Amino acid sequence: MHELSIAESLFELCRERLPAGHRLATVQIDVGELSSIEPELLRFAWQAVVAGSPHTDATLQVTWHRAEQLCPRCGEVAERQPGSWLRFCPLCLEPLSVRGGDQLDLVAITTIPLPADLEVSS
Ligand SMILES: [Zn+2]
Repeated sequence: MHELSIAESLFELCRERLPAGHRLATVQIDVGELSSIEPELLRFAWQAVVAGSPHTDATLQVTWHRAEQLCPRCGEVAERQPGSWLRFCPLCLEPLSVRGGDQLDLVAITTIPLPADLEVSS
């Protein structure tokens, strides 16, 4: 499961950006359809990676991005079923190209000062 090593790298990246005396609250990432990442597995791996650390409650928010199939001749964006691909434009039969969907980006993190963590939030 390569999601585990991705979650570990992501956690490392987040800790590098963490201000001193803070813990992670939320981590937002963009994941594309072509990144070969299963968002559910990545969330599961994330929970395993942060468990037992001060960041154990940090939430991983995954925004999923589909890849688009585009016709270079007529500009038609071809509709397709998730996970299936078309080879040719349905209108002009030109071979389709692919746009987007390869994201694997850390978008933002939010943090909470550690002392506040000890208080009961209302
Ligand atoms: Zn076309």
